[in-house]
Amino acid sequence: ANVTRYAPSPTGFQHIGGVFSALIDERIATQSNGVFYLRIEDTDQKREVEGAIEDTIATMNNFGLKFNEGMTGEHSEIGTYGPYRQSLRKEIYETFAKDLIKKGLAYPCFCTPDELNAIREKQTAEKVTPGYHGEYAICRNLSVDEAIARIEKGDAYILRLKSPGNSANRVEFHDLIKGDISFPENDQDIVIIKSDGLPTYHFAHAIDDALMRTTHVIRGEEWLSSLPIHVQLFDVLGFKAPQYSHTPTIMKQDGGSKRKLSKRKDPESAVSYYKEEGYPTQSVIEYLLNIVNSTFEEWREENPDTDYHEFPVALEKMSKSGALFDIVKLHDVSKNVICKFNADVVYDNYTTWAKEFDKEMYDLVTANEAVSKEIFNIDKEGPKPRKDFGKWNEVREKIYYFFDELFYAEAKENIEFPKNIDLEEAKRVITEYKKIFDITKDQDSWFGDLKTLAAELGYATDRKSFKKDPDAFKGMVSDVAGIVRTALTHRANTPDLYTIMQILGEEKVQERFTKFLE
Ligand code: GLU
Repeated sequence: ANVTRYAPSPTGFQHIGGVFSALIDERIATQSNGVFYLRIEDTDQKREVEGAIEDTIATMNNFGLKFNEGMTGEHSEIGTYGPYRQSLRKEIYETFAKDLIKKGLAYPCFCTPDELNAIREKQTAEKVTPGYHGEYAICRNLSVDEAIARIEKGDAYILRLKSPGNSANRVEFHDLIKGDISFPENDQDIVIIKSDGLPTYHFAHAIDDALMRTTHVIRGEEWLSSLPIHVQLFDVLGFKAPQYSHTPTIMKQDGGSKRKLSKRKDPESAVSYYKEEGYPTQSVIEYLLNIVNSTFEEWREENPDTDYHEFPVALEKMSKSGALFDIVKLHDVSKNVICKFNADVVYDNYTTWAKEFDKEMYDLVTANEAVSKEIFNIDKEGPKPRKDFGKWNEVREKIYYFFDELFYAEAKENIEFPKNIDLEEAKRVITEYKKIFDITKDQDSWFGDLKTLAAELGYATDRKSFKKDPDAFKGMVSDVAGIVRTALTHRANTPDLYTIMQILGEEKVQERFTKFLE
């Protein structure tokens, strides 16, 4: 069984990259009947943002990513390997740091920023790799008495690892996503405890992942370059390193080039965006699964009705670099998700969204619940689940015409006509159609009537004769249907016209024709 963790720093609100990461962790744990836990990495207290922990937890709950252990609130947690919040684990890190000092593997460093600068300048002049290492690590050589005296005097200090590594050696490593990698051994005396007494990410993560028995560390590829440090830390601490997987950065196409999805520039990087636009969380998750494993799409086609939890996520099949985030694709995935919801589910989801983001639609839809459910169940062929909803904020535009108060308020210039048909011609057709329209007819005879009328008004009833001599006709039967559609919906594209008429009913249809002719 795998043990994975989502380990965010509470330095801001959740972004889509966090959901992506947590989804992978959750799948890798849950698929193996393992443990998925939430650890809060709050050792950089200057950067902490109020409410970020609560936001993380709420976001994960909302996306159905369930933790078996870890933080359940800012001040609450479950599980026996805690505390799961790093700021509450100070003594644990101290214990390990002291042990390393005793073994001669760590030491206090009193270097001021000026001294560190001087070291760097010397290294630049001598063409040596910059950093605190080897003979340049001056505090390495302080005697214990000297160090104690300076600490007692009140000098500020940090603790550094006395790196046993040599950058001339190479380390081989297997990353479950990136494959085999090799890198020079770490020779830097990295900071393990900062001047405020809290550990650095490197130190805390190694201790916590070991003590919390993490089997798989799955994290963004920005951490790949720190791997030499981490491998070394596990080693000096006497722990077995977990399996590492570094996930590709989420990119966005920007003109001809790709760049990192940006919190500042791209609204879709914020989790709140999906809620506001009205993408069901399932759509977002299924889209992210597409990025995780490109085989998901094929699997989904073959298993249209299977719960996405059944899809086997495989780290080995993940793309090694730059995952492209594409909102157009997400929208398509979402249409596919929503068309499998029945009308009751659409109704519940839509009204929940509308209650918060479109009060007018909420009032209209809830006041007409039964009709709304019929409206949520028409596609091009008739009463069937709709295939044209990708997100809830586009529902208004697609159903507004069923409601008189919205339909009649529409501005004239927004009314769409079939190609090559103007208002005058449309009125001529509606005048005649109004006389023969009969709502009680079944779909075949209804269409038969429409066809007969079309022929009388100079429209072709079959494509062949129209193609042969287009100038001999005003258009085709489909244009006549299009005109009726315009008069009833103001739209050139709608689901099945006959079903729309059935839902509107005799009275409204006639009224709309009358007003159209005014
Ligand atoms: N706190 C780190 C971050 O938010 C976690 C990285 C990791 O998963 O180890 O980037």
